[in-house]
Amino acid sequence: MKRRQFLTAAGAGLATAAVAKPAIAQSSPEIKWRLTSSFPKSLDTIYGASDTFAKYVSEMTDGKFQIQAFAAGEVVPGLQALDAVTNATVEVCHTASYYYVGKDPTFAFGTAVPFGLNARQQSAWFGQGGGMDLLNEFYAGYNAHALVGGNTGCQMGGWYRKEIKTVADLKGLKMRIGGFAGRVLTKLGSVPQQIAGGDIYPSLEKGTIDAAEWVGPYDDQKLGFNKVAPFYYYPGWWEGGAALFFFINKAKWESLPKNYQAILKAASAAADTEMQAKYDAKNPGALKQLVAAGTQLRPFPQEVMEACYKAANELYAETSAQNAKFKKVHDAHMAFRNDQYLWWQVAEYTFDNFMIRARARG
Ligand code: CA
Repeated sequence: MKRRQFLTAAGAGLATAAVAKPAIAQSSPEIKWRLTSSFPKSLDTIYGASDTFAKYVSEMTDGKFQIQAFAAGEVVPGLQALDAVTNATVEVCHTASYYYVGKDPTFAFGTAVPFGLNARQQSAWFGQGGGMDLLNEFYAGYNAHALVGGNTGCQMGGWYRKEIKTVADLKGLKMRIGGFAGRVLTKLGSVPQQIAGGDIYPSLEKGTIDAAEWVGPYDDQKLGFNKVAPFYYYPGWWEGGAALFFFINKAKWESLPKNYQAILKAASAAADTEMQAKYDAKNPGALKQLVAAGTQLRPFPQEVMEACYKAANELYAETSAQNAKFKKVHDAHMAFRNDQYLWWQVAEYTFDNFMIRARARG
């Protein structure tokens, strides 16, 4: 009797599986997408997120959903990655939202804004503070839907051919600096330039520019900036935690079965976490090597930080007055920041501060 019941149950199970199979097949179609990255393959940290994303999507779909990643310049230039998604030249890109502030300054909030959030806080704002929903409402105007795509952590303030001792030293400074931060420096007399990663070194070497910021020790060392500028400043106050996104063409995103959307979200979250971990693991060794090879580390003077903070706040007020979309995202971002730093000063900062001093004592 028992055996008979078991066989019946097993038979029922098989029957269920047989019925369910066509439904599974329908929800797992074979799809091939192209991804254009804004970065060169030589940067395993930031470019690597595209490979990680594609690998997980393929593995989670038994190879049915293939995403082929291309480096900057292979399909479109690095700074046109989002445009390629907007006009459906490719289905997905991996880029920094703030590369597109020329279209609308609101794009800045998807990566980092001057004196904005650190990396942990940026992730919290996206996922738990309503940030990603606000941004996706904005990106819909560009036929794009964003998923998280990594973070570099707090960046360095860049490479300078001459020391920055006072605010006056910023006057006339020709600097490669991305996005919205350049507009802050314009207020202090600098001349910002937007130059893609691979083109910075020759500009700095030739003296076409006086300074350049990119990311941090690991990436900067790979691009060789230490060979053409001796002074390495910190912190990159314009990128307390610079986030990257995978932008997906909105119609393509909406056409995906729900399970594929979930897989893309999971794969992007894995790539997101992996990038920050790579930077945190690799930066200390690179910093040691740079300093051993003669790089001179300098903190920005307090008066320079204060002047930039004041200029940034003026720019926020001016831009908010002209642009309602900017104001909406700005107000949410800054309210979140203020609560985050209320919390940060208690446990996180106190712990880090103690540990840094304890390490210095040996
Ligand atoms: Ca940067």
